[in-house]
Amino acid sequence: SVRSVNENYFGAYSSFGIHREMLSDKIRMEAYSKAILKNPSLFSDAVVMDVGCGTGILSLFAAQAGASRVIAVEASEKMAAVACQIAKDNGFWKNGTTDGSDNACRGAVEVIHTMVEDLIDSKKIQPHSIDVLVSEWMGYCLLYESMLSSVLLARDQWLKPGGAILPDTATMYVAGFGKGATSTPFWEDVYGFDMSSIGKEILEDSARNPIVDVVSSTDLVTDAVILQNFDLVTMKSDDVDFTATVEIVPREAAHPTGTNNGTTWCYGVVLWFETGFTERFCESFPTVLSTSPYTMRTHWSQTILTFREPIAMSLETACTNKEAEVGTSACPVVKIRLRVSIARAPEHRSIDITVEPTGI
Ligand code: SAH
Repeated sequence: SVRSVNENYFGAYSSFGIHREMLSDKIRMEAYSKAILKNPSLFSDAVVMDVGCGTGILSLFAAQAGASRVIAVEASEKMAAVACQIAKDNGFWKNGTTDGSDNACRGAVEVIHTMVEDLIDSKKIQPHSIDVLVSEWMGYCLLYESMLSSVLLARDQWLKPGGAILPDTATMYVAGFGKGATSTPFWEDVYGFDMSSIGKEILEDSARNPIVDVVSSTDLVTDAVILQNFDLVTMKSDDVDFTATVEIVPREAAHPTGTNNGTTWCYGVVLWFETGFTERFCESFPTVLSTSPYTMRTHWSQTILTFREPIAMSLETACTNKEAEVGTSACPVVKIRLRVSIARAPEHRSIDITVEPTGI
């Protein structure tokens, strides 16, 4: 029927669209291509596994960097077939065979259509036989829809002792944002009319649901602090559920003394992440993939979590008026303590984020 033809067409198109978006993300591509191509001693003659190869781009970099064998694992049948074709079209399919089984694409790059989880049961790959594991597993806010647990499974099953994992670190950051990052001012003055009731409703909703959007560094009103560090070599799957308590303090630049009596409102917090290809494995050329508001935008943008009530912050003085409510303009705070909990939702692909701010 026309409908199912359309569904197939759009289905395939949208999945290619996602890959196009990732391949067009310059910050992402530069980080991975440099980490692989500028560390040839790591890849030369190495056996490499690419977990979730998609188009196979990371496998192609690895083959180009001198890997002797690249095992590209991909769960999507469509993408596995495409990755195989691309490897062939680019000459990375030497002595390739098509044996009609699900392992139908063998060469310098070998594409296996399977979930990583199922590959373990199939015993096709020798345990602890991989020198380098590469993967681009990061989701929004690092962990949303992330396939990190599949990467850790692959690490434990196939990586040689002392083998490399790229990236090998991941860090989550948090900073407070001001009015500019909310849509509130827009609704307060629409051709002179006050539509702030809509603004309030949006604010209420965004206090319940995080928003993925680009935040400008100029909208940050506090310094950024590290929320959590992950070491991909040693971490366990359960480590992605955590509670961290951090303190954010006003950023000097956002609080020029004398403006607004030195008070700036913090409307909520922004989360972002970096992954590191550190000198631990990338000795010749360590690099960082940053999704920070201070660097060029990536397709991950940032994650915005809005407080139910904005909190008044001041650079120099804490509250002197003991009668007033803490965090109001009569009683601005010099720090906000945040308790941030991230937990995988039962279906494991999404995450629950809880932010509890306290003014101090
Ligand atoms: N490595 C590619 C694609 C990254 S997107 C690149 O950097 O451009 C992640 C890919 O992993 C998707 O193609 C998805 O289908 C695949 N994937 C996700 N979970 C997987 C799993 N458990 N086993 C195998 N592949 C998986």
